[in-house]
Amino acid sequence: MELKTFTENQQYCNSLTNYSRRKTIPVRIGDITIGGDNPIVVQSMTTVDTMDTQGSIEQCIRMIDSGCELVRITAPSIKEAENLQAIKDGLRNRGYNTPLVADIHFTPNAAEVAARIVEKVRVNPGNYADKKKFEVLEYTDASYQAELERIRERFLPLVNICKAHGTAMRIGTNHGSLSDRIMSRYGDTPLGMVESALEFLRICEAENYHDIVISMKSSNTQVMVQAYRLLVNKLDEGGFKPYPLHLGVTEAGDGEDGRVKSAVGIGALLEDGLGDTVRVSLTEDPEFESPVVKTLINRYANRTEASGIKPISNYPIDPFAYNKRGAVEVGNFGGGNVPRVITDISTVGIAVPKDLKCVGHFYLPELDKWKMNDQGCDYIFSGSNPVPFMLPNGLKEILAYDTWSNQEDQKNKLPAIDLDHLKEKAALHASLNFLFVSSDSIVEAIPYLNNELPLVIVLFTNSEHQMQAIRRAFVSLIEAKINLPVVPKVSYSEKDAEKTMLFAATDVGGLLIDGLGDGMLIGLDQLQLQEKEEKLAQVKLHNSVSFGVLQAARTRMSKTEYISCPSCGRTLFDLQETTALIRKRTDHLKGVKIGIMGCIVNGPGEMADADYGYVGSGKGKITLYKGKEVMKRSVPSENAVDELIDIIKEDGQWIEPETADHE
Ligand code: SF4
Repeated sequence: MELKTFTENQQYCNSLTNYSRRKTIPVRIGDITIGGDNPIVVQSMTTVDTMDTQGSIEQCIRMIDSGCELVRITAPSIKEAENLQAIKDGLRNRGYNTPLVADIHFTPNAAEVAARIVEKVRVNPGNYADKKKFEVLEYTDASYQAELERIRERFLPLVNICKAHGTAMRIGTNHGSLSDRIMSRYGDTPLGMVESALEFLRICEAENYHDIVISMKSSNTQVMVQAYRLLVNKLDEGGFKPYPLHLGVTEAGDGEDGRVKSAVGIGALLEDGLGDTVRVSLTEDPEFESPVVKTLINRYANRTEASGIKPISNYPIDPFAYNKRGAVEVGNFGGGNVPRVITDISTVGIAVPKDLKCVGHFYLPELDKWKMNDQGCDYIFSGSNPVPFMLPNGLKEILAYDTWSNQEDQKNKLPAIDLDHLKEKAALHASLNFLFVSSDSIVEAIPYLNNELPLVIVLFTNSEHQMQAIRRAFVSLIEAKINLPVVPKVSYSEKDAEKTMLFAATDVGGLLIDGLGDGMLIGLDQLQLQEKEEKLAQVKLHNSVSFGVLQAARTRMSKTEYISCPSCGRTLFDLQETTALIRKRTDHLKGVKIGIMGCIVNGPGEMADADYGYVGSGKGKITLYKGKEVMKRSVPSENAVDELIDIIKEDGQWIEPETADHE
């Protein structure tokens, strides 16, 4: 595919090669300030019922103690909005001055009460003045203008209350809850998301009200990243003030998947210097969210601006749309292939078949058979330590060149070469070789590359600015018209599992979202690991994170995707328990997306592109969806998972789980 050429109007950040935070206006919220030169603010949201005053206070305190600097609480109606006063007083009495944010959907009257009590209100422009009916409407310019006037009348009282009380506001667009008006004119697109916020922003600016933070959330990381970038571009182009950005990926899920998905979207933006406050939405207790945010943002606290990476003056990537960089097919890389996972086992000393369990390939001794799960890696990199048995399931081994040269079987094993091998015209494998080259050496390598070579480039960097350095090397390859497949390789010196998943998702996810990358490799080279068990556990982590990042960036679906809301005061069932139950029954349905939403008010809109939905519609009652279509209403919760599975079966998407014991 022909990639678009960079133009001025594609500008969305200060620099593509140096870390430089976008300069925004400071917005004061109680004792803290978002934007300006202030550090990125950590925020999170409560999940207990807002009418449970004591429960809310206790949960807020747990959140604040875990690092949360701004607490959001849902206010679905006037009574909850009024109860924010009791929660606020309770917190202040306990010595906690953390500012509060009221979360508003559909209820301007609740917003108008809350704005007099708390330091910030969040409105969703998709449902502040509109009820969503999923209608396609035709608008003339005049009738569209009349709609904007109607919104202005509805929204203006809130703006005036905020101005009078010094209350800040977040205009928080959600991909899944765009109004019918926006959908009819712009569709379900990043541009529609941006316009949805700008309609409200214009009203605020006309009133000279500027205490505004903006967000563009989606559970689709590509859409989310594109929407934030486009927002910055349109703010600059439209002469708006540079308002601070609140970053988040909605309905990210839980555990490793939730962390990886959040980091792919949020990390890609942080790397480019965007973002002034961050919330990670996990289907877990909210006190687990802030530590994740802190790990994500602390990476930038001391990052130098000067990266030493050559600037990009001509960016050949459209930052607002997904276009995969075209690559010729080499082996099963590039072409129309999914990105491949190469897992580094070079320092582990894989000795017996059961060791390969850590890369998703399982030996069953009683049957003398091999199995693989959905995370069976495609290639292992074993360096100078060849695996001493025959590999199963089409798994291929990459060896250091000198080790490969001494192998009897040079056909089924593949060499890892460096630039000197290429320069010296060393004897290569006939169909697939891996050139390990650093981003610093890519310009030197280019004269030795051509698109006929049986070569996959494994691109690594020694720069602290890993994403920018690898991005720059990709641009050099694109400029030189080298279309060989490229696998980004990242390495970390810390073994901490959470850091590994968040950092790898940030660094590689940011590239994948721009269509850069035909695979992924997390290296062991910077790690000091002692015991074999520790090594196997680290490899298992790298392997599953690689599959997770590819899936979260929507480039390779290898597992069931759960789009579960983080829950809030509206939630009608135990989301964590239910998600675990649904996961247990359906996690073998590769590529199927299941939405699990706590309430019928926002759930159906917010699960956006799920294939099936499980949505709380009353106490003990569940409504089940196929796409956006209601299939069964008010199903008793005890039967709802079975009935969901029946819907999947009727739709022909069900497969029976394998019974073999391989985790
Ligand atoms: S979908 Fe979940 S998080 Fe969103 S409002 Fe409903 S219960 Fe709350």
